[in-house]
Amino acid sequence: MIDHFHRNEKSTLNPLQSKIPAMIGFLLLISLVLSPYLAAKPGSHNKKREYVVNKSDEQWRNELTPEQYRILRQKGTERAFTGKYYKTKTPGVYLCAACGNELFSSEHKYDSGSGWPSFYKPIEDQKVEQEVDNSLFVKRTEVLCKRCGSHLGHVFDDGPKPTGKRFCINSECLRLKPEQNNDEE
Ligand code: FE
Repeated sequence: MIDHFHRNEKSTLNPLQSKIPAMIGFLLLISLVLSPYLAAKPGSHNKKREYVVNKSDEQWRNELTPEQYRILRQKGTERAFTGKYYKTKTPGVYLCAACGNELFSSEHKYDSGSGWPSFYKPIEDQKVEQEVDNSLFVKRTEVLCKRCGSHLGHVFDDGPKPTGKRFCINSECLRLKPEQNNDEE
């Protein structure tokens, strides 16, 4: 009777216990695979807030290029070293590619080596907003345009003095207005 009890205990508890790490691993893997899609659902962009520039998803889709729409409105990211501004040193002001809001100055731009345009501060703090981003299971701080709510990139704490911040911004989200003239580049 005792033997029978022990045999049962072995056969019901141990196999289940041994599967738990594998089950957790499997769930983590599934979540990682799905997270970019969950984080970038079309039309789900910051609906909770009203912005000065407040356009429908359809309007944004019509006005922006597909790549701009994917990054600005669906929180996408351009591939490193592929954007048009990561090496740019032209003096001027970087505007929001979606609404024209003045976001960053070439004065605060530096080469972070990351492959994305990097700034140690926005042109004014109130031009952007920051929001905790838990996608990809890494806690990051998202940077958005305060005027239209479009996604711009992320801010990290490994920037240079005086702020120690690195605003890592997608080129696709910016439009440079050079200092010399009023033409946009
Ligand atoms: Fe904007």
